[in-house]
Amino acid sequence: MIKGKYDLGEVGFVDCNFAYNDISNILHEYMHHKLGTSTIFAFVNFILEQTEIGLNNEDLKKISRTMQKAYLVLNENYALFHQLAIISCSSKDRYERFVTEFKKSENYAIYHGKKILNILSKNNAKDLLETNIINRIAFIAMNIDFTKLSEKDLLNNEYIEAKIIENSKDFDPNERYTILLKSLEKLLNHNDVNNITDDMLLKYTGLQSFERNKENFLKVLNLYKKRFEVQNIDTSILIKNIESIKNTSEDNFILEEVSKKDVYKIFDIIRPMPLNNNYEEFFPNKVTEEHLNCGVMRVLLRDNKNYSIEFYAIVVFYDVILGHEYRLFVDKNSLRDMIVKFNKLIMIYCEDYNRFISEFPIIKSKNIFLEINNTYSKCKEFFINDMSEGRETMIHEGNDRVFFIFSKQKEDNIFVMYFFKEVMGLIKKDIEDKLFNIISVDDEGLDREFYKNNTDWWKYEDIIRVIMGTYIMDDEHKFPTLGRRINIK
Ligand SMILES: [Zn+2]
Repeated sequence: MIKGKYDLGEVGFVDCNFAYNDISNILHEYMHHKLGTSTIFAFVNFILEQTEIGLNNEDLKKISRTMQKAYLVLNENYALFHQLAIISCSSKDRYERFVTEFKKSENYAIYHGKKILNILSKNNAKDLLETNIINRIAFIAMNIDFTKLSEKDLLNNEYIEAKIIENSKDFDPNERYTILLKSLEKLLNHNDVNNITDDMLLKYTGLQSFERNKENFLKVLNLYKKRFEVQNIDTSILIKNIESIKNTSEDNFILEEVSKKDVYKIFDIIRPMPLNNNYEEFFPNKVTEEHLNCGVMRVLLRDNKNYSIEFYAIVVFYDVILGHEYRLFVDKNSLRDMIVKFNKLIMIYCEDYNRFISEFPIIKSKNIFLEINNTYSKCKEFFINDMSEGRETMIHEGNDRVFFIFSKQKEDNIFVMYFFKEVMGLIKKDIEDKLFNIISVDDEGLDREFYKNNTDWWKYEDIIRVIMGTYIMDDEHKFPTLGRRINIK
């Protein structure tokens, strides 16, 4: 069974029905990714590695290995710290169990496990996460001043190896991180974590940090570019990255300062998805009453730029009671026909909406749900200009890990968005700022917007079941039970 999926792209997916374990694992992977894209040492290594792979260049391979080794301890300690901290925030029991296993593992000794546990036992994990203190020391350790190296030896492995060993305080990230971690432990004995600044750490350790900004990044990459040219090495990957950094504003730069909100943002890039197909799939040739009686019809329009594909849309009818899905590949006329005949809930992707109403105006009289399957920050771009005037919103639990936001769109359709609970931190702020107007429920349990009469609850529950891939006749109790509507003010 698949529980988590992660690639180095923008978003990671975790199974929405079996989420718990994987959140901490994905966070672990995410931290490696963050370090790799946000610090000078790892970024230089990334360029060398990518170029080496393309050219099969032995010299570059050697240096890249040397560099990876030089931040291996840091990389793991830092990822393990975040993983442990997040577990300790959510459940003491689970944390104890994880620690017991962790102590038995090789990682414990190799990656300074004892130090992580000491720091976590004496300080509030949430504060440690929110101040990003471990993130900050990892970044300081990784921001090595490459301009202090001899230009002609930048690609000379023996020289780089010697520098890392002999000038470890300046060039060895593992060593720098260890010094910082030890100092942090001491500083935390007498200081609140909220008061510990980067300057304090640098002063206490006597280390220097190469400032993280666009200019310094470009300076270092240009040094390598010159060196590549002298040694006749392909510069295309370097140039591509130099260009992309040049085109990034300082604000959005990958070296952007880490803020308190980062903790929630991490979870925002982890999306809940049913990674296992829980429904039984059918591929009928044509639509019948059985399909038209299903609760939800989901439509995915094909990109019309792709002429080689002969069908116009994929239509899936969901029987949320039995857990059956009927998948049809249809042309435009059949789709129009289905829309006319189908009287329950139609779910489409928000991105398809304009094309949909222009090609099938009949859809305006139907119950439409506009799914936005994206991070909360991306969702905002989609819905912010298209919300109804009253911004009516309700929040519903999918299960105890996942929640759904239903919000009115200006043409009386409904946006559907869903996130792991941790993202609630980003949304609460927007509720306070009245971006959403959470609708209250009267004595009869109705809100007159979403629940207009007392049978309307099924609509939202069916939509949730379809997105989460759960169904009512789940005899084996494979899934956690569906949650309820929740009130946040
Ligand atoms: Zn790892």
